[in-house]
Amino acid sequence: MFGKILIANRGEIALRVHRAAHDLGIKTVAIHSTADANAKHVRLADEAICIGPPPARDSYLNIPNIIAAAEISSADAIHPGYGFLSENARFAEIVAEHRIGWIGPEPAHIRTMGDKVEAKRTAARLGLPLVPGSDGPITSLEEARAVADTIGYPVLVKAAAGGGGRGMKVVPTAADLETALGAARSEAKAAFGDDTVYIEKYLGNPRHIEFQIFGDGQGHAIHLGERDCSLQRRHQKVLEESPSPALSQAERNRMGEICANAMAELRYRGAGTIEFLWEDGQFYFIEMNTRLQVEHPVTEMVTGLDLVREQIRVAAGLPLSVAQADVRFRGAAIECRINAEDPETFTPAPGLVSDYHAPGGLAVRVDSALYNGYRIPPYYDSLIAKLIVWGDTRGEAIARLRRALSEFVIGGVKTTIPLHQRLVDEPDFLAGDYSIKWLEQWLAGRAESDEGTAG
Ligand code: ADP
Repeated sequence: MFGKILIANRGEIALRVHRAAHDLGIKTVAIHSTADANAKHVRLADEAICIGPPPARDSYLNIPNIIAAAEISSADAIHPGYGFLSENARFAEIVAEHRIGWIGPEPAHIRTMGDKVEAKRTAARLGLPLVPGSDGPITSLEEARAVADTIGYPVLVKAAAGGGGRGMKVVPTAADLETALGAARSEAKAAFGDDTVYIEKYLGNPRHIEFQIFGDGQGHAIHLGERDCSLQRRHQKVLEESPSPALSQAERNRMGEICANAMAELRYRGAGTIEFLWEDGQFYFIEMNTRLQVEHPVTEMVTGLDLVREQIRVAAGLPLSVAQADVRFRGAAIECRINAEDPETFTPAPGLVSDYHAPGGLAVRVDSALYNGYRIPPYYDSLIAKLIVWGDTRGEAIARLRRALSEFVIGGVKTTIPLHQRLVDEPDFLAGDYSIKWLEQWLAGRAESDEGTAG
């Protein structure tokens, strides 16, 4: 087992990894930018090293400085968290070249799944059902027309290097294709430095359902059930739950088994998430994330497993601590992503946290790096806390969520807590009756009725 892990991240996820490491008796090294000198993960880690100025490209994405920090501190492994360098195959290779343990999948698997066109090809080969679309990148307008005519409008133009919902354009009719293709290409080029795009059928009203998988790299893999992440704004997840209110036990078992078998065949190592859209009882693969997800705690709450601990074990060459037959799914868990944003306009609202009180009680978990007097820096993601609750039933989880949200105090900055408070009282949410379109339609409806009241 490793003796010391360097955590190449910040915020709540750095803290999450630190806690799992300490539970295993492993020492931790925090890295931080100058803007994060007072961060909680820096204070709690056994050692801390400043790796650069505030902009992420100079600090949390600065590979030479991070490797130097690992060497100086004699860390024997690096955990990348999510975001930043977690899906950078070259970084994973460099870590290995320096004989430092990499707590993540094989670089080759990161590379394949990071290219969505390659990922779809691989998924097809492994027997996963795909969204109908182009068989590879689109190289000309003629080719785009031919593909779109075959699958039928509306279609979606997507960036092969895409992420975070960027580089995606909906094409309602043939007349819109040329403009959308150009717009998707330039957005992809600007955001990812790669203008490769492909085309997919645009599904009208699907749910986003993803499966958590785990492989040992030796040809064994298990699944830990699914998460329903349909509540999204601008293709970004807002609230996630497990199990999905839409799936039957039979569907869960069937799809979970298909995913686990695919990962066993790939000899995948570590944690991964296979994302699907789900419509009319059919699953359609959209992408695979080769890292820990933001929403992994809901899976931990229903399975009782520590996913970071499993990641560390597998990276150290140990087997998974459970076999599929040992995995028990119990109750229901829900996570709210709480952002430092205006809950109406979603404008980022960093600043001084003048008052902080986290909710507590049975089956309430808060993953956050906030504390009283902490100043949220303006340079990074606006996620400041994740509130996760568990209940024996979904109803019990929702009641607990409502209570926990009412206890949560984050003073001095605007947060999305009020949004979640309204959401948990919505009849459609209570009924579990929502698709990926629901949240935006609900927000638009509320904006309209506010205008009505004002007028
Ligand atoms: P990213 O990597 O940018 O997050 P994804 O491929 O994971 O992109 O898609 C993000 C979200 O975009 C999905 O959860 C879904 O809401 C929407 N989406 C993606 N593909 C389709 C599609 N073919 N039809 C309808 N919506 C889609």
